[in-house]
Amino acid sequence: MSQLIHAVRGMNDILPDEAELWEQFEDATREWLRAYGYRPIRMPLVEPTPLFSRAIGEVTDIVEKEMYSFEDALNGEHLTLRPEGTASCVRAVLEHNLLYNAPQRLYYSGPMFRHERPQKGRYRQFHQIGVEALGFAGPDIDAEHMMMCQRLWDDLGLEGVALEINSLGSPEERGQHRAALIAYFEKHEALLDADAKRRLHSNPLRILDTKNPDMQELVEAAPRLDAFIGDASRAHFEGVQALLRDAGIPFRLNHRLVRGLDYYNLTVFEWVTDRLGAQGTICAGGRYDGLVGQLGGKPAPACGFAIGIERVLLLWQASGGQTERPAPDIYIVHQGEAAQRMAFRVAEALRGDGFPLTLHCGGGSFKSQMKKADGCGAQLALIIGDDEAQADEVTIKRLRTEDGQPGEQWRVAADTLSETIARTLYDLEDDDGSI
Ligand code: ATP
Ligand code: MG
Repeated sequence: MSQLIHAVRGMNDILPDEAELWEQFEDATREWLRAYGYRPIRMPLVEPTPLFSRAIGEVTDIVEKEMYSFEDALNGEHLTLRPEGTASCVRAVLEHNLLYNAPQRLYYSGPMFRHERPQKGRYRQFHQIGVEALGFAGPDIDAEHMMMCQRLWDDLGLEGVALEINSLGSPEERGQHRAALIAYFEKHEALLDADAKRRLHSNPLRILDTKNPDMQELVEAAPRLDAFIGDASRAHFEGVQALLRDAGIPFRLNHRLVRGLDYYNLTVFEWVTDRLGAQGTICAGGRYDGLVGQLGGKPAPACGFAIGIERVLLLWQASGGQTERPAPDIYIVHQGEAAQRMAFRVAEALRGDGFPLTLHCGGGSFKSQMKKADGCGAQLALIIGDDEAQADEVTIKRLRTEDGQPGEQWRVAADTLSETIARTLYDLEDDDGSI
């Protein structure tokens, strides 16, 4: 036998039990997005590499070391498996001129790729739902995004999630802060670790994000961005906070929240939990007013967020949100040639009437088929043998009884089957009370 081939490290198969949970989550999120007027958009998984270096920033973790980039062997194009969706979404919007005369509320969902060290809640292929609002300038849309998240967490019954927010100010204000940071860290260069030294002149803001315990004191005492925030930025941030307070959404100001992508300005936010260990951020986003211009479009304000689906699902399970396994209503068992032909006919007719059902395939005794019927979680078994086939009738057997006793079974004419099943499954009664 030849050797088994395994999936790429950090890229997971999602097997049926779990995939059913994913679908349940996807159903919930689709309704949730529609409730807020967001429309779907789907972009390719592969993009020209410069899209990401230009949008996310050359000196970011993602672009420096996490991207799956390769040269197209056929034409030499530099391509990258998308590490996030915002850049692609903005590219698509500009390419198709969607911002021409109206702002856009958009969402997408799908796999993202980052070459990171795989661990619980951190994978090399992971999935996000991304929500983007393009062409909106005011703090109202920032607040809408956070309110949306709160509603989704409530809908799912997630426990232990908290909102942290910060303002990154305008690019000018960040520039002044950046100069002050560089001066401060230069003064204390001996205390910097190798990573921080490397970032000192390229991206000093990211030093504030360090997880190195030896640098916490230094970082705590560094010049704070909020000291450089001007009136207009402050007013925007206060507008966001007022709307959050009105909506009764608790939040914590975290002046060290900077985000790992360069394109953010003004509001940034993260939803965090302490129940997932080190991978505690389940959703992150903020305003990115410069990105549209940076990607060659006529400048337009924008903001958005991305939900890490794997992490939300982990938390959903930890919060007791379990799926009921979706089962077919009906399992059809049959034996004999005529019975098989009839079983196929009956199955298609019932599917046409809207009943989800499984038709037994692969033969075997009635007993073994009935075991399968029971095991799949169906409510009813339909039994078709020679007898039934000859009489054009079907035996119906209830599989789930409250007291665990064998369920009743009875025979009906094939042409009344659909009606009988509807009554049996949905407990419908005739006007006179009979079934
Ligand atoms: P982290 O600090 O955890 O690396 P990030 O700031 O790089 O996160 P974003 O780019 O903001 O993450 O992505 C938004 C969300 O996507 C994150 O909050 C997280 O829930 C999820 N996410 C990011 N990277 C991964 C990954 N490698 N595996 C699983 N989920 C991820
Ligand atoms: Mg990351």
